[in-house]
Amino acid sequence: MKLPSASYWPRISKCRLSGVKELWTEEESGEWAKRGTAIHGYLADVMSGKSKPLGNVPKEYREDCEAITTAELPVECEKRFVEQAFAYDVPTGQAVAFAADGHRGYSDAEDVVHGTADVVGLMADGGVCILDWKTGHHRVDPAARNWQLRVLAMAACVVYRADHGVLALHYTEDGWTDVAEFDAFDLAAWEAELRQMAGEISPDAPPVVGSHCKGCPAFRRCSAQTAMIRQLATGSNTIASDIQSMLAPETARLAYERLQTVKAALAHVERAIHAYAEEEPIALGEGRYYGPAPGPERIVNHEEVYQLVKQVSPDGAITDQLNTADWKTSKERIQKVFGKNDASKLIEILRQRGAIKKSVTIREYRKGA
Ligand code: SF4
Repeated sequence: MKLPSASYWPRISKCRLSGVKELWTEEESGEWAKRGTAIHGYLADVMSGKSKPLGNVPKEYREDCEAITTAELPVECEKRFVEQAFAYDVPTGQAVAFAADGHRGYSDAEDVVHGTADVVGLMADGGVCILDWKTGHHRVDPAARNWQLRVLAMAACVVYRADHGVLALHYTEDGWTDVAEFDAFDLAAWEAELRQMAGEISPDAPPVVGSHCKGCPAFRRCSAQTAMIRQLATGSNTIASDIQSMLAPETARLAYERLQTVKAALAHVERAIHAYAEEEPIALGEGRYYGPAPGPERIVNHEEVYQLVKQVSPDGAITDQLNTADWKTSKERIQKVFGKNDASKLIEILRQRGAIKKSVTIREYRKGA
């Protein structure tokens, strides 16, 4: 069976169904994921001792990277490897290490879990330290019971012949590092548990709903989620009262988790309706529609703006103020820098050159309005 990579195992440890790759649907890589990739690349360059690591970071994420407290390994290590990829063979417990080369895609081999550790340290006492950077605000499973770290540690211990070590999660937003130690007994228990979990991944596994459903690649095809969406769509739902009835001290946490799942389901429904309306405006009655409608004017060609502003302000002072060096500015900023009258002349020229156009947004509108 083709097994998911290490980062999916914290969710699989709670819901085996989420590990069925045949149920996965491609999710677009969102803005948050792109930011995470940029920060990981930056931290890898910092840890590798590259000069001017900010130089490789896309401009839009440089401020975020500058604000980061870069993590050192929480224990003293004699050697360290950045972006170290592993393949762990679940049935045999064998593992190999290979260079991740900065890309985070993995090949599909049977019964093997692939994964990349942000940093692996080899400790003076023969142990290994696995460090993973977390770039969002969201707290993941603690280091002491985090299956992403556990799988990476199991592979690293085979490759570097270690039987103990340290797991660490460093949260780049607030600089906190969550650290946990492990020993040979833990490794043996994890090995058995991982084998059991891998054997339980099946389309027939029961869905286990919880806050871990957020971001699940099987979400769209998950029977529990589709049933809930159907309930929401038909209006015959008792979801709100169900959640409310869980508001007792012993079940409040479950109520909160249920609410997060409902919110995630709603976000999926919203995206689906949005995509449908983009192709086919939805008639809402009384002349109202939900679909593509003219939105505010937007700059669509930043280079054209840059060239025009350079013509009227050749000394570069205004291009700097407009931040057009990376060709990104806004109509509002042009108005602020040039004043209302000059700005409207510039904006008119930009309209004629097709550099400013009316945008299209998906929203409610009235036909003919
Ligand atoms: S959405 Fe939740 S219940 Fe469904 S497969 Fe994913 S983790 Fe399991």
